[in-house]
Amino acid sequence: MKNEESSQDYENLAEGALTLSYFRNARRRKLLATKPLNAELWSELLVQHPILARLTYGEKSRLRDLTTIFLAEKQFELVRGLSLDEFQKASLAVQACLPVLELGIDWYNDWSTLILVPKEFKEQMLTPDGHLVHETNEELGGEILPLGPVILSWRDIEDSGWGEGYNVVIHEMAHKLDARNGGVDGCPPLHSDMDFEQWKTVFTLAFTDLERQARRLGRKAEAQLAIDPYAATDPGEFFAVCSEVFFETPQVLKKQYPGVFDLLMRFYKQNPLRQSDSRV
Ligand SMILES: [Zn+2]
Repeated sequence: MKNEESSQDYENLAEGALTLSYFRNARRRKLLATKPLNAELWSELLVQHPILARLTYGEKSRLRDLTTIFLAEKQFELVRGLSLDEFQKASLAVQACLPVLELGIDWYNDWSTLILVPKEFKEQMLTPDGHLVHETNEELGGEILPLGPVILSWRDIEDSGWGEGYNVVIHEMAHKLDARNGGVDGCPPLHSDMDFEQWKTVFTLAFTDLERQARRLGRKAEAQLAIDPYAATDPGEFFAVCSEVFFETPQVLKKQYPGVFDLLMRFYKQNPLRQSDSRV
């Protein structure tokens, strides 16, 4: 009897989820049909973000849809006097959507808010009544709170998307994807045709190699390493930094850690080294 009740409960739950997903998809279809991202703004985004140049016409079109949905469904909270225009918000959104171009926007369905600050910030620990009890020395360009908001510095967003290797938006989105199956440990939920043991072995080898090089070079590491030594902080940071490099300067990651490049290509279902032969 208990089992029967349980299976009925599951059926009701599944039915509820299906209904929710039906209404959400209907709402999205209506949004895309009636209020797609402004065409002029979209053309400007493509010009201003060289990392999008490789995409085919069809991929750009799907990315425009994802960006439209992202802008409509996520809350943007601007603090510390920051103000952003439509182009600036769309610039953030399009970079956030690039990693989920083939995964789908629902990979971001466990959080809804972006907190945007003007420049780098220090992580603060406050008591419930707002008293500062701890502040880090290090300045951050972005941070995520598991199951909570993403915090980003606008100054760092402006430095992202130029195909130069740095991208705070992709970095924080990678942390969000990683956190979907628990902690930020460098392993997001893998697809059914991927092998966790292989992921662990390949990433651990590359992480250990970078950690060793960073330790050996000390202060010179940042200037001499092709991959930001911040990646050697822990496996979670390694996955996030490698994701930035994967989308920004894929040739660097392919040369440095080809095994990591191949696994990221399978996870993101994209090949950023493939050049588009289509026109915008
Ligand atoms: Zn990070």
